[in-house]
Amino acid sequence: MNNNIKMPVILIGNSFKYEIEATLKMFFPTSRFSFSDDINDAKAESCIIAGVNGSEIYTDVKINGVNFHSEKNLYSTDTKTVEHELCRLIYHILSDKLNIVSPWGLMTGIRPVKKVIELINQGKNFNETSDILTERFEISPEKLKLAYNTAVNQIPILEKINSKAVSLYVSIPFCPTRCSYCSFVSHSIKTAVKLIPEYVEALCSEIEIIGNIVRETGTEIDTVYFGGGTPTSIPSEDIKTIMECVQKNFDLGKIREYSFEAGRPDTITAEKLRVIKELGGQRISINTQTLNDDVLKVIGRQHTGDEFIKAFELARKTGFKNINTDLIAGLPTETTASFVNTLDKVTELVPENITVHTLTIKRAANLFGQNVLENKEISVSEMVDYSVEKLMNNGYMPYYLYRQKNTIDNLENVGYSKKGCESYYNIFIMDETQTILGAGCAASTKLVYPDGKISRIHNYKFPYEYIRNFDQLMTKKKEITECLKKINS
Ligand code: SF4
Repeated sequence: MNNNIKMPVILIGNSFKYEIEATLKMFFPTSRFSFSDDINDAKAESCIIAGVNGSEIYTDVKINGVNFHSEKNLYSTDTKTVEHELCRLIYHILSDKLNIVSPWGLMTGIRPVKKVIELINQGKNFNETSDILTERFEISPEKLKLAYNTAVNQIPILEKINSKAVSLYVSIPFCPTRCSYCSFVSHSIKTAVKLIPEYVEALCSEIEIIGNIVRETGTEIDTVYFGGGTPTSIPSEDIKTIMECVQKNFDLGKIREYSFEAGRPDTITAEKLRVIKELGGQRISINTQTLNDDVLKVIGRQHTGDEFIKAFELARKTGFKNINTDLIAGLPTETTASFVNTLDKVTELVPENITVHTLTIKRAANLFGQNVLENKEISVSEMVDYSVEKLMNNGYMPYYLYRQKNTIDNLENVGYSKKGCESYYNIFIMDETQTILGAGCAASTKLVYPDGKISRIHNYKFPYEYIRNFDQLMTKKKEITECLKKINS
């Protein structure tokens, strides 16, 4: 399929756009779709018809002019059942004709671990959970085991969530250069350098405003997370200013975790590590993604594998006892052998956390449209399968897992940890039980009300917008006070 042409999807007798699109994305990850109920749109070379007539469902899938038909009588008109079974019909016909099997089967738009936890909480054991999910979603046995293990490790952490306390997220949206797979609104430090003083000033004002609200409402801070971009891409004096501002405006006496995502090894210096450590940082991320220098060049990073190892050792020397390293399976030009080599070497360094992502390419990334998602030569599943086995054999346990759209082979991202070193914040960000207050450009605030209602406040995406419209943005913060009052009442 040409990425610029939208594939027509004709919905007859139903409006299941969202679920059907999610199903189609498994097979056509970079394609766009146009939805209508006009049968004339079926003249296109490739198109999908998805129809419902009472309890009868049918689909016509046309790929490059060749038509395939499938139909079924459900003996039920329940909307959820009809929607799910129609997606199943489309899934099977495409899976069969395109020879693609998704390891997560029909599971789209549902968090696998959340679903497993739900079943465990209903008293179901592994076999019962497995039977239910296999029957409904056709998940592979390997992924079922992974989701189940992750759920078992996550449950004790969820039980410790203090829903009266909140977490603080501080955003530093700059990076040394932009990685080719990145879709984040990160700004190259070279072009944004002039903005940094003003950005730091605005960010500290926001931290102060949030700090006042937290104090006035008697709210406790549970975790702090500095993320980006690459927070270490700004000078150490600016890191110091921001971290001191956090220290001054929040009572950090009871926090359970203070994470700082250093990110790229080429931005890490002994001085920055010292500042982060002295001002409260306990957990740090140093992310190489791969140790293969050729791949690092291809993805636009300016460091080598050796520089990562040096940065890692420097962090250990500075006294960091909880280090995370992010890796990505499926980077362009990476082979299974070079991924295995990366994972083996990183494991030898014994970081407390290793996060294995699978490459996801969104429209905003430079790599988009380069057929990276459809490269059949490389088996990314092999890389991911190796990571599960290698890490679990080396004392790492999966404790959070999430899936994204446009991920190679519909695979997943998994956070592994040595026992007791799991990151609370990584779970809070996915769970809906604790409020997260976001400060800085591109940060968002997630307010979790005692009645379960969730409300989000998004800050501006770009530093200049954030700086220019600061006052306007702060008027939105009134809702934080209301929510924190309710949480503490
Ligand atoms: S370091 Fe992360 S945020 Fe920065 S450009 Fe690369 S992927 Fe994007």
